[in-house]
Amino acid sequence: MKIGVLALQGDFREHIVAATLAGHSASAIRRESELNEVDALILPGGESTTIALLAKSYNLFQPIRKRIKEGLPVYGSCAGMILLADRIVDGAQGQETFGGIDMTVRRNAFGRQVESFEGEITFNSKLVNGVFIRAPWVESVGKDVQVLSEAAGHPVAVRQGSLLATSFHPELTGDLSIHQYFFDEICR
Ligand code: GLN
Repeated sequence: MKIGVLALQGDFREHIVAATLAGHSASAIRRESELNEVDALILPGGESTTIALLAKSYNLFQPIRKRIKEGLPVYGSCAGMILLADRIVDGAQGQETFGGIDMTVRRNAFGRQVESFEGEITFNSKLVNGVFIRAPWVESVGKDVQVLSEAAGHPVAVRQGSLLATSFHPELTGDLSIHQYFFDEICR
């Protein structure tokens, strides 16, 4: 499979490494022509406002929205989760997302309690190491959204059809199980 990683800002290099280690060809996406070549897309962690603004200036914002609507498999971690949310709370003024997952995400939700933390969480009945960095959580989900992990009483990994989002950063841990779930269960 050809996996594209949106490479405008954030930890896209780590996602390229993870996808490559999982046995796929992975490349950085910065143009619409590159987006058109891929079978699946990863939206990295970083800063969701910056990524959205850069996507607009690179003329990628509407093309990504369109491909999401057409059913492209997309996985977003942290800022990537925010970008896949249909609704956000505590967003920057006028902050826009690609959308696709019928959920409300609270930006920087864990921030006020503990800036960043690491802990074991259950994902799809397996234990994984969750790395949370100024992470969002999910406030509420629509009926078609499946919750795959929770932390602090809130969903932190969700799936809707071909879209997957996590509040945490598996790309920073060396544990490939979330990426593998995306490739094997969603992209297949
Ligand atoms: N707080 C960041 C945002 O709003 C996300 C942080 C992250 O990706 N580690 O985009």
